[in-house]
Amino acid sequence: MLQPKPPVVTILGHVDHGKTTLLDKIRQSNLAAREFGQITQAIGAYQTFWKGKPITFLDTPGHEAFSNLRSRGAAVADLAVLVVAADDGVMPQTKESIKIIKETGIPFLVAINKIDLPGVSPEKIKAQLAENQVFVEGYGGEIVAVPISAKTGQGVDQLLEMILLVAEMEELKGDPEGEFKGIIIESKKDSFCGPLATVLVKNGSLKVDDFLVCEGVKGKVKSMRDDQGKNLQVAQISQPVQVLGFEEVPPVGALVFRGEPSSLSSPFTKKEIKIKEELGDNQKLKVIIKADSLGSLEAIVGILPSQVQIILKDVGDICESDILLAKTFGAPIFGFNIKVSSSIAKIADNEAIEIKNYKIIYDLLEDIKNRILHLTDPMAGRKIIGKAQILAIFTIKGEKIAGAKVVEGEIVKGDKICIMRGKEIIGESTIKSMKHEKEEIEKAVLGMEFGITFNLPVDFQKEDSIISYR
Ligand code: GDP
Repeated sequence: MLQPKPPVVTILGHVDHGKTTLLDKIRQSNLAAREFGQITQAIGAYQTFWKGKPITFLDTPGHEAFSNLRSRGAAVADLAVLVVAADDGVMPQTKESIKIIKETGIPFLVAINKIDLPGVSPEKIKAQLAENQVFVEGYGGEIVAVPISAKTGQGVDQLLEMILLVAEMEELKGDPEGEFKGIIIESKKDSFCGPLATVLVKNGSLKVDDFLVCEGVKGKVKSMRDDQGKNLQVAQISQPVQVLGFEEVPPVGALVFRGEPSSLSSPFTKKEIKIKEELGDNQKLKVIIKADSLGSLEAIVGILPSQVQIILKDVGDICESDILLAKTFGAPIFGFNIKVSSSIAKIADNEAIEIKNYKIIYDLLEDIKNRILHLTDPMAGRKIIGKAQILAIFTIKGEKIAGAKVVEGEIVKGDKICIMRGKEIIGESTIKSMKHEKEEIEKAVLGMEFGITFNLPVDFQKEDSIISYR
């Protein structure tokens, strides 16, 4: 029989507007209220209680993760809280969040945060929201807006109260006795326990010893822990639990159903090595991505620009086979929150493989975007001083000299140069010597013909260009 179910809430909003602080505050006050001694563990979601009623909060970082979960067709959250900092107002990611909320049609309320700061005005934020088609009470609409301070805790109780009220109005229902259905909201491979996945129960209940199927990954629930680290025999509707017993790491966003014991004997999904057909495509940036958990991996992969070609995406620390793969495809390795052992760093160094390890998704994305820029425009970010065309090549005393003519700007001795063939950089160097009619010169000006040699060996040809830059 359908019954009201606890709401599953996601917190959206601009970076630094206080999402994490709010999640922490609610979690802390909950811990204090329940007087639990256990150490909390991050399993991707947690439950709090307000006046005895449970509310589930998704802990996934930012809206990339959320939209990724959405894009897999899984309606994870029942409600959203849009956090807007009162001192900063509606910002780009606030607008993005509003867009996601509208697209998904998820009910939501607004938390106007940081009201402890001097001189801030919640009314100003409400007006800004109205400009962005979010009409709160008193501003032409009925959307609930609660002024809070995630820092001091002011207003947080009202927010919880309002979340429950909105949930009640939305008549969220599920069948605790019905067929079990769950969603993977976080998963990883633990070096000690093996695959661990957080399952959010969407319908029915989950019990120890249940057989599970999840997009080709099978499992039997050996044990379950809640966000307080407490062992459970049964997980109820809207409850997030970390499940031990999957045979492989199941993908985030995948739906989980109850399986048959016989299904356990079928083959399991293999690690994904995606080597696409267009491998010869030089316009794409080939990368290897290694992340600490499937949640972050999916979030990263979900926001990579289309010019990126993923050679391998995987969960776990970098191993020797990753370096081999990187070498084969000339791809850098991007790590996210992983460990790079000194032995791996050394192997990578020997093989001239670049490893970049990031803790913030945006930093990783920024790096990748810059590389793409250089891919499509190799000279991006360099201030070009001059350009010369190579007209002839001479060899004097075993040294290769380019006979060139300045066609743009000037070529100055101290500048860096690169040799380009069409749009491709074929070599980079600094200038060793420049001669004009046997005289050593410091600079060659527009229209001048001169001979030039380089400090580094560059395999130039007639008709290549010499670009000088700073
Ligand atoms: P997130 O990026 O949205 O998760 O933002 P954080 O929770 O990391 O908060 C960003 C910064 O704002 C941190 O320095 C917080 O301490 C601060 N902050 C968050 N909430 C409040 C608040 O209610 N009042 C004040 N004064 N600062 C806050």
